[in-house]
Parts: sequence; C-alpha cells; structure tokens
Amino acid sequence: MLRRFGRHLLDSLLPPQCLGCRELLRADVALCSACWSNIRFIAPPLCEACGLPFATAAGDGGLCGECLARRRLFERARAAVVYDDGSRGLILAFKRADRTDAAPVFAGWMARAGAELLGDADILAPVPLHWTRLLARKYNQAALLALAIARLCEVPAIPDLLVRRRKTPSLGRLGPTARAEAVRGAIVVHPAWTAALAGRRVLLVDDVRTTGATAEACARALLGEGAAAVDLLTLARTVRAD
Ligand SMILES: [Zn+2]
Ligand SMILES: [Zn+2]
Repeated sequence: MLRRFGRHLLDSLLPPQCLGCRELLRADVALCSACWSNIRFIAPPLCEACGLPFATAAGDGGLCGECLARRRLFERARAAVVYDDGSRGLILAFKRADRTDAAPVFAGWMARAGAELLGDADILAPVPLHWTRLLARKYNQAALLALAIARLCEVPAIPDLLVRRRKTPSLGRLGPTARAEAVRGAIVVHPAWTAALAGRRVLLVDDVRTTGATAEACARALLGEGAAAVDLLTLARTVRAD
C-alpha cells in the first residue's frame, strides 16, 4: 500500500513523459500523438506460423514463403509492432535508458498481439541475457516484459527458466548460418526447472525478433528438456521490405 501511495505521489509530482520523445503529456497515455502515429502495429492478415504481416489475405495454409520452405523449432510467432524507424527509439530507450516504466504498456500491446498464443501457454519464459550483459544493463528487458505480461493474463512467468551458458558474440553482423552456429548450445534450461517443464507449452518472450536464431536456440533447449511446444511473442519484429 505504501508503495502504491508512493507511486501516486510520484505521478502527481512528475507529469508523464512520452516513451518515445520524453515530451510531457497531459493525459494518462504512454506516447504523444506524433510518436504514436509513427508506430506500425502488426495486425492480420499474417503468416500463421511466423506472424509476418501480409499486404493482402494469405493463400493456402496461410504461410509465408520462408515458412513454406522451412518450419522453425518454435511453432508460432507473433509481434506487436514492426521494428523500424518509428519504433526503434522507443525500444532502445526501454533497453538502455531506464525507461522500465514502459514495460506495462508494451506488455499490453504484446498481450493483444499474442492473445491466441497466451491462451495456449502454460509458462512464459524470457530469452535470457548472459550475466555479463545483465550486469552491464542492470536488467533483462525480456524478463521485465514476461513478468508484466504474466500480471495481465494469469500465465506464470519463470524468469530463469532458460540460462546462457556462455557469452554469445553480438549477432548483428553475422549471416543467418553464422548466427545459428554462434548460439547453438549456448542456451540451456536451468536444472531447477526441468521437472516443471515436461509436457508444458512454453511461450518465449523477447523484445525484438530479427532472424529468429536466438529464439530457435531457446526452443531447441526447451524441446530437448521435454517441453510440449514452444511459441514466441516479441514486442517488435523486423519485416522484410519486399
Ligand atoms: Zn513522443
Ligand atoms: Zn511465415
């Protein structure tokens, strides 16, 4: 109660700031109208598997070309927004500039985009950060999102279900094969949770999906320890320009 009181006191002293540009806001909203209009929310029609938005309604089976060619270890993926110039600043502020107050807002967007996946999930698990990055960054933003989503929808989150065994190089400059190779075997299920995992559907949570290689390494570890299936829910995803 004291904390709630403190929060109200703080809110009344500090007017809310836009999560995108720090402009002061009058109403109790997360973003100013300019930042809001730059965000591309992802909505159907989508690829049934990877959640790629389609310009027009999907054909047979509702799969994109990439999923028709190769299915991922995770069954379905969904994301709330497109990762582009409109959303990048917002997400980097959350990752690096202590805008952890964005977590409940982003969780709301993700709960909507991932409603179907959340309906089937037994456990939420964040994609893990290596502890050396955790120290540098103070918090794992994926874990903050998973905990905020758990608060909204009664699916329990286990922040340390997955752990990184060794540091993986920054994946930004690597090609798809090199990325998959770099993360292979780096992510494992925490031994304390293996018994709880058997036969469960896990919903992986992360901030941004690019190639899906990290999520696939997580899925490999979870399925290897007996999870029934793995889905992926991210705040944002890249979308090919073609
Ligand atoms: Zn703004
Ligand atoms: Zn697809």
